[in-house]
This record gives sequence, structure tokens and C-alpha cells, in this order.
Amino acid sequence: MLELRAGATPQEIEKIRSAIGELGLRSRLVVGETKSTIQVIGDETGVDLHVLAGLPGVEKVTPVNAPYKLASRKLHPEYGLNGHSRAVSVGGVQIGNSDIVIMAGPCAVYNENQVVETAKAVKEAGAVILRGGAYKPRTSPHSFQGLGKEGLEMLLAAKQETGLPIVTEVLDTRDVESVAKYADMLQIGTRNGQNFELLKEVGRTRVPVLLKRQFDAKLEDWLAAADYVIAEGNYDVVLCERGMKTPFQSAENGRFNLDVQAIPAAKALSYLPVIADPSHATGRRMLVMPAGLAAVAAGAHGLIVDVRRESDGPVIEYGQDEKIRRTAYCDYEQAITPKELGSLVLKANAVHKATNVMTG
Ligand code: PEP
Ligand code: MN
Repeated sequence: MLELRAGATPQEIEKIRSAIGELGLRSRLVVGETKSTIQVIGDETGVDLHVLAGLPGVEKVTPVNAPYKLASRKLHPEYGLNGHSRAVSVGGVQIGNSDIVIMAGPCAVYNENQVVETAKAVKEAGAVILRGGAYKPRTSPHSFQGLGKEGLEMLLAAKQETGLPIVTEVLDTRDVESVAKYADMLQIGTRNGQNFELLKEVGRTRVPVLLKRQFDAKLEDWLAAADYVIAEGNYDVVLCERGMKTPFQSAENGRFNLDVQAIPAAKALSYLPVIADPSHATGRRMLVMPAGLAAVAAGAHGLIVDVRRESDGPVIEYGQDEKIRRTAYCDYEQAITPKELGSLVLKANAVHKATNVMTG
């Protein structure tokens, strides 16, 4: 990291950055109110950054050898140490300030009616962003894999109907460009937390990224994944805690374990906003509310929740329509109803107000 002298000129900054380039490294300029810095991107081992110390405009050179730098709160003094996060705007909705942001919708998109009706219901319940998977990462290749492009069109129809921005998952580098045309936020799923090419590819877009924590990732691995995205120039990353794999899972205890303490811990280490997914963390409808409220009490900036209509069953009746025939609603067991979502939204706001641990 290079701290710049107050009043360093654009020409001086340009020279410093090209000198960093000549060392085989990339850089990011962070303009602060009182102090600006240049973050060095790349492998600093074997490079003596101190050779830059004499350049006009440089005040101080601090080599940093850490798995993540760009997402680090310590290296971004402009955000301070009091838990203030960088707000990320998703279709006009700010994530990371003092409002709890609720994203909700079906786990997967099956047909237009389903997603449009669910979107209307979650909006009515207080959600401000619509979730829904068109590309689904399934544990078994025999499970429903998503409708792909067609599903994106259906999400778009729901957005047009409700005005809700869309968060949807992208699984493959080859789909990033097309998904980015529809999505207001690109979701990277837990299983892709170390798919470095995918992280880089979403980093090349300018669409905000919802970065799920890998279910066995340490905080530093999660933040290093965020650095992959930011290093490509996309600074709009929101972290999402979605449960860890532990040896203690059971049908009663849920599919994963929501790592509640990771929320304040990640907020201390990084200035990026942090939300939680109590649906995928628990895999059980009855655990979604308590886990979601615990996350909010721990300082989450928002929640992402699977919701199904009352009328959606665990298995769609076999019908004439090929698309309907091949589906059983994925993650049915963890989806809450719009009514339950309404109650979660009210309680989440009350918990947030009562605990007031979020400092924006
Ligand atoms: C999802 O949100 O639909 C999903 C598959 O989540 P995760 O990657 O956390 O399992
Ligand atoms: Mn799901």
C-alpha cells in the first residue's frame, strides 16, 4: 500500500501507477477525503516496493502480504473502524447503510406465473429485491437444473411487473455476459466461492455481486474471493453468510449451520456490506425466522430468503406442459410463505432497532 501526499497531482499519481506496472503489479487508486492511497494488486513477494518511496507524491510505502487487501477495512482508512460499511446500490436499493434490506423470492424459476406472483407477494410483504435462480447449482445432476435464459426472461417479466431489482445466480464464465444483461445483482453461490475464473469474470462486469461464503471457507478465504472480484474493477461486492458445513448436521438441526458470529467478524475485517441467507443455512422452514433474526441482531445489513406461494406444493402435478412436468420445487422444505416473510420483515426491523448494532 502506498499512502499519497496530500495534494499529490494526477500526473504524479499516474507516474506512480505506471512505476507499479513496471514492477509487474497492478494498482487501485482509493481517493479518501483527507488521504488517498494506492493499493497494490498482485504478488508482492520478491518485489521491493520501497523503490517507489522516492517518487514525487508518495508519502509512505507499506508492503502488505495478506491474502486479501482490496476488501480489507484496515487498508481502507476512509471507512473508519466503527463498522461503517460501503453502501452498494442494487437497482437503486442501498445495501450497507442503516436499513435492513430484504431480498426474497423463489429458490428457482419454473414458470412466469410462479415468479411474477411470488414477486408481487414478496413485495407486498416488504422485500425490496427479488431473488430467483434461472441457473441452479444442484448437488445431483438428476435434479432440476434451471430454465437458463428462459428463466431470466421470466425474472425480467417479474421485475417489470413489480419494479423489484433482480438478484440471480451465475454458474459459468460463459454465461456471465448474458446474465449480466438481466441481473441487477449477480449471485456467486457457495460452491463457486473458489471458482477464480468466475470471480474474475463477474469482476469484469459493473453489476453488483452477491458473494456467498463457501460453506467451509475461513473468513480470509471469503475475503480473498472478494478481492478477486474487486481486482478486476468491480467494487460493488456484498458478502453473504449462508451457513457452514459441520459434522453436527441432522434433519432436525438443519442442512448447514449459520455462522452468526462471522457477521460482526467479517464487518470488522472488511468494509463490504454483509447479509445472511437463513434459508440455505438451515434448509428448514421453521428455522428460517430464528436464524434470520439472529443474523440481524448480529449486525447483518440484510437477509436473502426463499419464499414460495401458499399454493406451491413440494411436487408440481404432472401436467401437459413439459416444463411443469419435470419439476419438483427445489428447496421446498426451506421456503417460507409470503405471510411468514411479512412477519420476518417486521420482526427483523424491530430486532434491528432494538439491538442497533449496525452503525451503517
Ligand atoms: C441459492 O441461493 O439459490 C443457492 C443455491 O445458495 P447457496 O449457493 O448458498 O447454496
Ligand atoms: Mn435454494
